[in-house]
Amino acid sequence: MQQNKILIVDDSEMNRSILADMLSDEYEIIEAEDGIQALAALQKGSGVSLVLLDIVMPNLDGFGVLEAMNHNQWIKDTPVVIISAENSPEHMERAYSLGAADFITRPFDALIVQRRVVNTLLLYAKQKRLVGMVEEQVYARERQGDMMIDILSHIVEFRNGESGLHILHVRTLTDLLLNCLIRKTERYHLTMEDIATISTASALHDIGKIAIDDKILNKPGRLTPEEFAIMKTHAAMGAEMLEKLAEHQEEPLVKRAFEICRWHHERWDGRGYPDGLKEDDIPIAAQVVALADVYDALTSQRVYKPPFSHEQAVQMILNGECGAFNPLLLECLSENAEEVHTALENESGRDLRQKKLRGISLETLKNIDGGASQRTLRLLDRERMKNSFYAALTEAIQFEYTVSPPMVTISSWGARKLGLPEIITNPRQDAALQNLLDTNTWEELSQRLRATTPDHPEVRLPCQIRYDGATRWHRVVTRSLWSDDIEPVFEGALGTVVDIHDTHQKMQELEQKASRDPLTGLLNRASAKEQIELRTENDPGSHFALAELDIDDFKKINDRYGHIFGDEILQELGRRMKSSVRRSDICCRAGGEEFFLFLEYNTDIEKTIDRIWHSLCFEYKGCRVTISMGVALGEMVGLSYDALYRAADLALYKAKQSGKNQYIFYDPTMTGTLSTPSAGGPETES
Ligand code: GH3
Ligand code: MG
Ligand code: MG
Repeated sequence: MQQNKILIVDDSEMNRSILADMLSDEYEIIEAEDGIQALAALQKGSGVSLVLLDIVMPNLDGFGVLEAMNHNQWIKDTPVVIISAENSPEHMERAYSLGAADFITRPFDALIVQRRVVNTLLLYAKQKRLVGMVEEQVYARERQGDMMIDILSHIVEFRNGESGLHILHVRTLTDLLLNCLIRKTERYHLTMEDIATISTASALHDIGKIAIDDKILNKPGRLTPEEFAIMKTHAAMGAEMLEKLAEHQEEPLVKRAFEICRWHHERWDGRGYPDGLKEDDIPIAAQVVALADVYDALTSQRVYKPPFSHEQAVQMILNGECGAFNPLLLECLSENAEEVHTALENESGRDLRQKKLRGISLETLKNIDGGASQRTLRLLDRERMKNSFYAALTEAIQFEYTVSPPMVTISSWGARKLGLPEIITNPRQDAALQNLLDTNTWEELSQRLRATTPDHPEVRLPCQIRYDGATRWHRVVTRSLWSDDIEPVFEGALGTVVDIHDTHQKMQELEQKASRDPLTGLLNRASAKEQIELRTENDPGSHFALAELDIDDFKKINDRYGHIFGDEILQELGRRMKSSVRRSDICCRAGGEEFFLFLEYNTDIEKTIDRIWHSLCFEYKGCRVTISMGVALGEMVGLSYDALYRAADLALYKAKQSGKNQYIFYDPTMTGTLSTPSAGGPETES
């Protein structure tokens, strides 16, 4: 593990030196004599993980340092522990309000300082990890999605009912045409990611119309030349709006959207607006959206015209009646006429189903006693819209289950993948759904779901899923939903299904060539390490624990009953280990009378460990066997074999030291208790 760096700020060299002595075994120490030096040391890239800060100092005092840290926004990432003899409530209050994490008054006890430093570091590490997780998972999508939704919902508000569908159509067509285009030419250097970005950005092509007067926008019949001139400003206006999103300027999505907004009315022959760009001077994103826009305008009903059929529309475009386009794109459109037709049909169908689904849920809500408020309904509806929007953008199997009405809704991609309809009413009776998993897995899943609580709503379950004529390993992750009542009621669950086939296949390969301990048949240390590393690296979202266990006073058993009897006990323990954990967990004899258990868990690991420990203490032919066990949790020490092993080992050492015949969970204060190599530890034994 990397050493944390601690900055000690105090004007008294004596004080600094005392603190440094206390902490230098565990941490890298740097020192500063006053606030100015402290700030210099905190400049970017210093890597300081915690500051111990005195208050009364020359030049710049502790409060000054805190203020500057707030100003530079360092205080969020770098915890500050105040150490001061000034312990008046006003001082403490001021320090805390400036973001200090802790306050220790002088004179202090070495142990207290060490422990508070550890606690503060852990707290911040945990927070950082949480923030990191949220940022990773949500931010990337939210950054695009939220911005989009906000702008989109504006459009939807400002325009008439059919525009929502138009946006979907343009997106689908854009995607389809670009995918065809890259098969024809490499001229545009488009990656799959570019295509996804352009398709998403296409939804924004008409945002400029927000600024156009409703009377012109929805005018039945022809526009006068003046009105048409106003209408034409929407292209430049949309682009301008995007330029004003200063903080998002560098986003690829915004860049593409800018191109699309400004130039989706340019023409291949240079006779379009606003800039009269010609041929490939027009960015490809705008070229494609222009064609998609025209096609969809032709085939939909507008206030000023009836819809044309697909064939008529394609013919009109190919005849050059509705503008001039890149010949390659025209080829794509005419060659894929059938595909275009079907894609749009599906799109409209999906939209209708979505609306129906929304209707059903709202209906249910309205039946709640007293009724949900308009605001709640609106927020809920918005959430649903968001969800279905995201689900439509990602290739993921996502689902939502509601108890009332009993219904499973699956993301469109997921439904296609699994060969299921997007909406399944009465899921319990649905044969196709039941057929995906074997009965045991259903049993386990529903059992686990029933065991969830509002505080422990999550279930993760690796399972094999059958579709497309094959069975593959997946992980189902669900989160139960509860009502806000005083006695929360189970209302359903959200979930995703992730393909972990490859990890499992690699596990099986490892399993096949794994070396085993001949006496117990368990994995040996090297093979277990290999498998644990694979699991932790490929499944970072899961909860894993490593338990290291060791038979108590085994030497005495050997001495009293003989080695052969001792061997039998080792074998019995091996059997008990295997039967006390799941098949996908890892059991290992690390050497001598020491064993590892590596397990995945959902909730309540304390209870699980307690159960396992009890089942591993037993009576064999009149001989009482007890074990000591140290347990490390990945969520606490990080998901690496080395970190887990080190922590479990420390905990086991502690269990042996404090009387044996017990299990102990690793906790961070154990760091450093191990100054000499563990007497009962594995390294000394082998
Ligand atoms: P503690 O409670 O501190 O763990 O005491 P202990 O006696 O269990 O531990 P110690 O490390 O002192 O002794 C372990 C003994 O395990 C000594 C060794 O002969 C015995 N042992 C190691 N491998 C085997 C084996 O394969 N079969 C048998 N029968 N005994 C073994
Ligand atoms: Mg032992
Ligand atoms: Mg031992």
